[in-house]
Amino acid sequence: MIMNILYLIAAICFIFSLKGLSSPETAYYGNVCGIVGMFLAGCAAYLAVDVPFGTSDLWFSLVAIVIGGGVGITIAKSVSMTNLPQMVAGFHSLVGLAAVLVTFATYFAPEIFNIASVDGTIGKCSLLEMGIGAAIGAITFSGSVVAFLKLDGVYGGHNVSSAVNAFLASSVVSLITWFVISESIYALTLFTLFAFMLGFTLIAPVGGADMPVIVSMLNSYSGWATAGIGFTLQNDLLIIIGALVGASGAILSYVMCRGMNRSLCNVMFVSGANRTSKTYNVVSKSSNSYSFRAGAPEDAAFILKNAKSVIIVPGYGMATSQAQHSLKEFGDILKKNGTSVRYAIHPVAGRMPGHMNVLLAEAGIPYEDVFELDEINRDFASCDVAYVVGANDITNPATKNDPSSSIYGMPVLEVEKAKIVLFLKRSIGCGYAGVDNELFYSQNTMMLLGDAKKTTESIIKAL
Ligand code: NDP
Repeated sequence: MIMNILYLIAAICFIFSLKGLSSPETAYYGNVCGIVGMFLAGCAAYLAVDVPFGTSDLWFSLVAIVIGGGVGITIAKSVSMTNLPQMVAGFHSLVGLAAVLVTFATYFAPEIFNIASVDGTIGKCSLLEMGIGAAIGAITFSGSVVAFLKLDGVYGGHNVSSAVNAFLASSVVSLITWFVISESIYALTLFTLFAFMLGFTLIAPVGGADMPVIVSMLNSYSGWATAGIGFTLQNDLLIIIGALVGASGAILSYVMCRGMNRSLCNVMFVSGANRTSKTYNVVSKSSNSYSFRAGAPEDAAFILKNAKSVIIVPGYGMATSQAQHSLKEFGDILKKNGTSVRYAIHPVAGRMPGHMNVLLAEAGIPYEDVFELDEINRDFASCDVAYVVGANDITNPATKNDPSSSIYGMPVLEVEKAKIVLFLKRSIGCGYAGVDNELFYSQNTMMLLGDAKKTTESIIKAL
């Protein structure tokens, strides 16, 4: 009875946690709700298995929780803002691995989980749930490891023929069927190995600019794997949490794909390389009569002093240079001068969804000054200055003009419509997607080459 009440309260906490995390204003309370829910879920799990105090099993699991929690806290505290996406991918991989391990544990000791029949065999329905949970878990594990390595820049990716993916996927399905019929350990081991390979072959070819969708999709997979295991263990809370994570990840992936004007199948199965028949070489372009206008911080200060409205567009470079605090001071000075200052956030600016919102909130930039792409895009046309801080792909007109570009179809902040575009970056090099940005060579663009934080500080001085 107490256990069921705790499960119910924990499930409600997780629902409020998701709701809270949907906005930077309430994200802190969302986190607190999640922590409370997790604590209650842990207590309920102990009540469920009825482990008496003082037994070695209890101490063993408590020590494991302390060690695991300690490692988690250390990683979360030490990880830099720019490496958060890798951390998320790394943690997803552990959820997938846990699902695989729980399936094997259940297989070897079904009586502990109350799924063994009198003759010691496992019911067909439980075998199917175990098969689905382990396969999704294995795909999540290896896919997340590949996503981690790609985001960290350690691994560039490979093209994989769709025939290989089709072969692996059909092998996994056939082997799961064999497993359900025969309860064979060989079938279980084989389809898990094939699913590990499938995770690798599915994610390896995905283009760099599509990684946000992949991270969100793997998040969804880890949720479904959890729900699958919840069915096997007949644990309502795992089913609820798994369904919440699975559904929210799937919805986020769908929304991102729709925003990029692409389908999930296109993201998954059409590799970046296949979509890019042409990538520009910055050096050749600039040496072939393409030139750009470089300015000094004093030039920028002069332009900004006379501007009535400025839209600041932060990107990954703002995160690496930690320019958000200087930006806040910069915005305050402009506002004192009577200039309207707003911030435009692209859904995939930086290296994970919400990356920029977190950094701007950390610097104390008011939420009411921060606008999503749909809310602000049409205002560039009437704005005096677009101040682009370490952003590149999210402003690239190739997303609209060049069907052969790997980022074609991605939504874009139309900064080129502003009267003047000030671009703060260290060089005229490419962004994450490796695509040249024709805006650098445009008539109304001034390049302010250098570290974003240092350049902003110099402009503040000049102002
Ligand atoms: P980009 O990677 O396109 O561009 C960032 C720019 O910042 C670079 O061109 C770099 O140019 C510049 N930069 C780096 N360091 C500094 C610095 N210290 N000072 C000034 N400039 C600096 O980032 P965007 O935010 O524009 O776009 C995000 C990209 O990342 C998209 O392609 C997106 O698909 C992808 N992505 C997004 C994820 C997400 O969920 N948000 C996850 C994974 C990928 P230079 O070297 O010349 O300084």
